[in-house]
Amino acid sequence: ESVVNRIAAGEVIQRPVSAVKELVENSLDADSTSINVVVKDGGLKLIQVSDDGHGIRYEDLPILCERHTTSKLSAFEDLQSIKSMGFRGEALASMTYVGHVTVTTITKGQLHGYRVTYRDGVMEHEPKACAAVKGTQIMIENLFYNMTARRKTLQNSADDYLKIVDLLSRFAIHHINVNFSCRKHGAARADVHSVATSSRLDAIRSVYGVSVARNLMKIEASDNDPSSSVFEMAGFISNSNYVAKKITMVLFINERLVECTALKRAIEVVYAATLPKASKPFIYMSIVLPPEHVDVNVHPTKREVSLLSQEVIIEKIQLEVESKLRNSNE
Ligand code: ADP
Ligand code: MG
Repeated sequence: ESVVNRIAAGEVIQRPVSAVKELVENSLDADSTSINVVVKDGGLKLIQVSDDGHGIRYEDLPILCERHTTSKLSAFEDLQSIKSMGFRGEALASMTYVGHVTVTTITKGQLHGYRVTYRDGVMEHEPKACAAVKGTQIMIENLFYNMTARRKTLQNSADDYLKIVDLLSRFAIHHINVNFSCRKHGAARADVHSVATSSRLDAIRSVYGVSVARNLMKIEASDNDPSSSVFEMAGFISNSNYVAKKITMVLFINERLVECTALKRAIEVVYAATLPKASKPFIYMSIVLPPEHVDVNVHPTKREVSLLSQEVIIEKIQLEVESKLRNSNE
């Protein structure tokens, strides 16, 4: 049974960056205003995510890392919206099958926190009282220690660290009211350091730099026709002065960081046709649509999504991008 669990867990947590994504999303779901990530050896030695969220109650600790433990069901009326948000109570459980998990947490009004370690879905010992300030710290050590082949394919720790930095950068420009940091273990300087702000452009400037931020244009599109499509999109796209070697597309759909290859390609096509010299754009988009219009089952890691009435939405966005680019180019 433990081999089956491990293999399933290895599907949910494919690389260190997938663990970081799950942990940061949990911190965001816990209403944190500050999320700090520390990484050692590309995440294989250590991933540590600390937040100042609402914490985990003492009585929930014994089952915390059991499969299908989730506190997030009651907030959503129907299964469809749960599915589209990717809630499944599997992330923490999975991590305990492929790494050593330590949780330190304190809830509001408590005098001290608790620390527990988990293996293979279960607590290794009773929660130990400990000093804690606010929120939760989750540590994953020795990720994939029991998956030799996986460790071999993840030899390039610099590459995995860059993926984690990239991930935190994306979260930071969407959740602009949250402080984010990401640093290597032992490093004095953080590689992502974003301070809560009310301006999206300020957030982008602090994370991606002035040269990106100054070449961005605001974009919006929407549709409200139940017979064709219902959505709202807002974001920023780069102008003709922004030149890069590859496209950056930061996409949030219903507040979840996702990939939509069809949309990305469609926007690239518009740039290539309208601004051939700046055909590798920077795009940040946040799309909100009815949860039942999102299909997350395209890929097991649920990053890739497809949308109901995807064609209509893509075409609307393409038209908007094209008109922005033409206006800016005049
Ligand atoms: P899910 O997020 O799908 O519910 P997870 O396995 O990611 O499943 O997490 C299980 C549960 O652990 C969550 O539902 C939440 O109640 C709790 N939890 C995990 N991380 C945190 C955190 N940083 N702060 C507060 N609660 C957390
Ligand atoms: Mg989760």
